[in-house]
Amino acid sequence: MGEIVSGTALAKKVKQGVAERVKECEAKYGRVPHLVVILVGEDPGSVSYVTGKARDCGEVGFKNTTLKYPDTVSEEELLAKIAELNSDDNVDGLLVQLPLPKHISEAKVIEAIAKEKDVDGFHPLNVAALWQKQPCLLPCTPQGIIMMLKEAGVEIEGKKAVVIGRSNIVGLPASKLLLDHNATVTMAHSRTKNLAEVTREADILVVAIGKPKFVTADMVKPGAAVMDVGVNRNPETGKLCGDVDFENVKDVASVITPVPGGLGPMTRACLMVNTLECFLRKQDK
Ligand code: NAP
Repeated sequence: MGEIVSGTALAKKVKQGVAERVKECEAKYGRVPHLVVILVGEDPGSVSYVTGKARDCGEVGFKNTTLKYPDTVSEEELLAKIAELNSDDNVDGLLVQLPLPKHISEAKVIEAIAKEKDVDGFHPLNVAALWQKQPCLLPCTPQGIIMMLKEAGVEIEGKKAVVIGRSNIVGLPASKLLLDHNATVTMAHSRTKNLAEVTREADILVVAIGKPKFVTADMVKPGAAVMDVGVNRNPETGKLCGDVDFENVKDVASVITPVPGGLGPMTRACLMVNTLECFLRKQDK
């Protein structure tokens, strides 16, 4: 059976490291990093993510402000608030929880957040910097994937990595980070022909689709490291599950991440890392 890498345990370790640095920040700069999270509407998934982020801020010793707006808020009002927070020196990190109601352009909102406060790493300038190998904030989930692989002792360099999914938030940047670690990367998506043939080649398989139990044991090369990003509801039990058929794939893989308790907590831990980074960059200016 493969090693099950706990994102919960690694996230705890990462957050402890951040918490220690926060104490130093307070002594040296007289204040702690401040993360502002904007929540629009009451989507249960978004409410739960935002609650988790606030809890993590408390754990590491950040100041956290969650600003809640009804889903009827206008784009104009939201953009005006973002502009105000951009120019507030006491705000180090700023994010707007996605998805947003249809009348608000997510692209406009992402672009409105100051690049220096863009803790999610979604701003076009941060994305461009990532693809041009310039200093940037690494998007949280892909950063978490690399940390999980390292924690499990998986060698990335020279390995064949397959990433299923090519979203701006997960698949594309995850592929880029694996490439930067010298893996040979194949990006698969909904039009990929003979997907199982492609995935069976992978030493490292990253799955970010959003379909419960989509990756079955016969799609995985024996000994592969499998990183399951998906967050779904199991249609039979209603419980949280990933994109990978965990029960069967764990017997084939050498390393596998569980859902829940895998990349979810790691994504939030990386958000803490990025917020600290934004704070420190500002102090060093
Ligand atoms: P997304 O924007 O919907 O992208 C899904 C990707 O999967 C697309 O690239 C799509 O291909 C591909 N795909 C869909 N059906 C496929 C199929 N049958 N075969 C191969 N590829 C297929 O989703 P996302 O935002 O990347 O999120 C993916 C999953 O990760 C979701 O479950 C989401 O909830 C979860 N997630 C988790 C975290 C975390 O912290 N753990 C963070 C973010 C997202 P096309 O491009 O061809 O359409």
